[in-house]
Amino acid sequence: MTRRKFVAANWKMNGLRADLPEIEGIAAAAAAHDGVDVAVCVPFTLIEAAARVAPGLPIGAQDCHDADWGAHTGCVAAPMLVEAGARTVIVGHSERRGDQNETSQDAWGKAAAAHRHGLNVILCCGETEAERDAGRAERVVQAQIEKSVPDDAAARWFTLAYEPRWAIGTGRTPTLEEISSIHAIARAKLRQLVGDEARGIRILYGGSVTGANAGAILSAPDVDGALVGGASLTAAKFVPIIEAAA
Ligand code: PGA
Repeated sequence: MTRRKFVAANWKMNGLRADLPEIEGIAAAAAAHDGVDVAVCVPFTLIEAAARVAPGLPIGAQDCHDADWGAHTGCVAAPMLVEAGARTVIVGHSERRGDQNETSQDAWGKAAAAHRHGLNVILCCGETEAERDAGRAERVVQAQIEKSVPDDAAARWFTLAYEPRWAIGTGRTPTLEEISSIHAIARAKLRQLVGDEARGIRILYGGSVTGANAGAILSAPDVDGALVGGASLTAAKFVPIIEAAA
């Protein structure tokens, strides 16, 4: 089964209207490389403007609530994202697990809500440094997948991102063998949950991906793309990663 490469930008809490030309630059590169799927996940406040300046580029959010509306001060629901122009959403990112105490069960509810409203989902998993040092990386990732992946997850709308927490924003990455090994374990777990559909589900690697290491990471076995933070904030840094995936 060949899976199209998918490169997603995670702008985190970065980006003002002054940064929209970067979105336009990324959109131009994405249009020029139609063999690779590209999405840019921006702060809520930029979704509408980003979707307007780059109508051909899937714009995403970085979280949504598991409920469709209600008394949840400060939260944003999936139908609101859709109305703003988002086509995808990241759920279960380790920064939300850490900063907002989100659990894998929370990520499950958010993924289900996003899917109910027609959004694509990028669901994140990944171990801490202490868990890796204790030899528990595989078990942690398996447990996160088991608790967070909806049992109707399908390749058409669902993507998994493996992001070891200790590699995020640190400039450190696992070896290619370590990445491929976790991806293979993740796919086996997906297979237990969703059967044959797992063969088509893309598994992205995330954590300190740059233009310099993207070529090697994206050609490692079982790596179907990348979720990129710091190196996605400008077209100059992100376009080489799109090119590496193409
Ligand atoms: P990074 O972040 O590329 O800056 O390490 C990746 C992520 O957290 O999605």
